[in-house]
Amino acid sequence: MKILIADNAGFCFGVKRAVRMAYDQVNNSDDSKTYAYGELIHNPQVVKDLEDKGIKTIEHIDELDENSKILIRTHGIPKKIYEELKNKKVEIIDMTCPFVKRVQKIVNGYYKKGYSIVIIGDRNHPEVIGVNGWCNNSAYVIQSTDDVNSLPFLDKTCVVAQTTITQKMWEDILDLLHLKVKELISYNTICDATNKRQSSAEKISKEVDMMIVIGGKNSSNTQKLKKICEKNCDKTIQVESADEIDLITLKDVETVGITAGASTPDYLIQEVIDKITSGRKEE
Ligand code: SF4
Repeated sequence: MKILIADNAGFCFGVKRAVRMAYDQVNNSDDSKTYAYGELIHNPQVVKDLEDKGIKTIEHIDELDENSKILIRTHGIPKKIYEELKNKKVEIIDMTCPFVKRVQKIVNGYYKKGYSIVIIGDRNHPEVIGVNGWCNNSAYVIQSTDDVNSLPFLDKTCVVAQTTITQKMWEDILDLLHLKVKELISYNTICDATNKRQSSAEKISKEVDMMIVIGGKNSSNTQKLKKICEKNCDKTIQVESADEIDLITLKDVETVGITAGASTPDYLIQEVIDKITSGRKEE
């Protein structure tokens, strides 16, 4: 069996940086407690390992002890929460991805200049909730072309993208937005890592009999990868780890493609490759 690994599969720059910073905290820990505000990355194995090493995940900042440390995940947080944290006696370790920070800055800048803000993305995703918090939660969040119909006519407007949406979603919605907005300033803030990962997955999914997408069930970019692959390859599965692969599904498969979401460490990709190849040897 031939195995094709998509380029740019797995950890992106932002996640790599965040995971390194989190493990730095573990390795250089003093006596203060360390918390993560929300799951640091969408990968249960990594989150569990960090928890075992003392980083506790919390969902509300009220749960923080004085003199503790708080890690801000790559998705970032709303401005108000940032300010509330600054007023507490805690050390903020900001791991917000620089690409997400840029989106927050754009939104905040145009909001202050009186522009309406449109975010194209998933309104329940922490990154979008965070970005919306930099324009006082005033943004119109558009998840589909249908949503554009329910928008009022807008005057001066700035539109940005959740960093992990597809290029197609951005282009389709942007085309329609021009009909609803008098003066539209657009920033395509889809991150390059996402674009490259999606293009590579799309390319190899056309060449294989089966696609395996590795990534957390809650990971938005992993789900998008799965959707992209499903369009070209009926036999596409998503798994969080090698344990979830039933080797029977690989029977009669001649070429298998593998890609992985931005929060998937290399060792999980390797475990999947090992399982597939060892399973074949045992047949
Ligand atoms: S996918 Fe892009 S924006 Fe998101 S954390 Fe990774 S590098 Fe940053």
